[in-house]
Amino acid sequence: MTKPAPSSVNIYQEIYSWAKELFPICRSLTGEGTRQTLRYFKRILPQMKIYEVPSGTKAFDWEVPPEWNIRDAYIKDQNGQKIVDFADHNLHLVGYSEPIDEVMSLERLQEHLHSREDRPHAIPYVTSYYKRNWGFCLPHAQRENLKPGDYHVHIDSTLEPGSMTYGELILKGREEREVLLSTYICHPSLGNDEISGPVVTAALARWLAAKTDRRLTYRIVFVPETIGSIVYLSRNLEEMKRNTDAGFVLTCVGDDRAYSFLPSRQGDTLADRVARHALRHQVGEFNSYSFMDRGSDERQYCSVGVDLPVASLMRSKYHEYPEYHTSDDDLNLISPEGLGGAFELYRTVLLTLEHNKVYRTTVCCEPQLGKRGLYPTLSTVEGGRGKRWLRVLRNILAYADGTMDLIALANRIEASATECIPIIDRLLEENLLEEISQPGL
Ligand code: ZN
Repeated sequence: MTKPAPSSVNIYQEIYSWAKELFPICRSLTGEGTRQTLRYFKRILPQMKIYEVPSGTKAFDWEVPPEWNIRDAYIKDQNGQKIVDFADHNLHLVGYSEPIDEVMSLERLQEHLHSREDRPHAIPYVTSYYKRNWGFCLPHAQRENLKPGDYHVHIDSTLEPGSMTYGELILKGREEREVLLSTYICHPSLGNDEISGPVVTAALARWLAAKTDRRLTYRIVFVPETIGSIVYLSRNLEEMKRNTDAGFVLTCVGDDRAYSFLPSRQGDTLADRVARHALRHQVGEFNSYSFMDRGSDERQYCSVGVDLPVASLMRSKYHEYPEYHTSDDDLNLISPEGLGGAFELYRTVLLTLEHNKVYRTTVCCEPQLGKRGLYPTLSTVEGGRGKRWLRVLRNILAYADGTMDLIALANRIEASATECIPIIDRLLEENLLEEISQPGL
């Protein structure tokens, strides 16, 4: 991979600083933490609209749950010492815990405790959204040391009719054809899975918003996972089915270990093709998964009847790294380089899609390049237009027969789309190439 330019490195730091500020907020499917998170993004993306969907609203087979808000939660031991305290870590409380204030035996308390034997020093992440329950999460090592006796359990939460909140930003382009970027905002204090997704999405959205020459329209959504994407689809399905050329679920884009690819259900949509192309040229080695390994909102976007072309480019994929859904997936696991690398990769994907048209050469037999200043002289060879540049240019002219889009053409001539784009622009300027209309591509 090429080293990032110094200006990019500042963007990486900025993305990481957003993650740091948002990490402590207690997000869930609904509630003030999620609203606060969306308000933070609205400062970066002023055109973003924030929607409230009332509890009880039906969406396909689902219903928006009651709104959950949490103020305080702890377990006190026989000496009145707080041994588990929500104020110390959001993950200590099972998400969507109902209120309780009771003294109970250790035996009864144990039924509501969660820990991970395989990761004895970490706090696991547990939720109970659709079955009313309560519980605490703690390191397994601490749980093993709890002494028999009475414990005071206190959860000051509310589960009441309210609403579910989501954010949507539509950036219109010259064309109605759309690219979907979807990320989720419902995990408290977790790094790679979750806060990396929203912050990289916000950085991409800000970059797209500042781009004045957008060809495509961008639909960027910040939703709680599962119920959020289901509700969003129930409100926008027809338009999305009509207009979406490609889409991506942005999740797990924060660590700097691996890159991973999860294809759409169909597996060979434009989203899959552009993702594989960018990975091959910008990353090289990556972990390739099947749609059977799905786990996030592509479950909804690619479901039968919705059938959107949605894939996912990740760093270490959910379920596949040891810190996943524990307190070890924190701000130390993600890094400016991890977030920045994913940002660059998605930027390449989007730039490729912006230029993904079908091209055809305009002259019969080889055009004479010398008279157009396209055949490098000795001095231009040194100025960067070396053998490689000329080889790509000549291959574009040799293969652009009006049957391949940019991605297929670049694959065919063993070049990257990013190297082809400026050369294609130059050939269009010289009228040596023309764009062919491309129904269905
Ligand atoms: Zn998760």
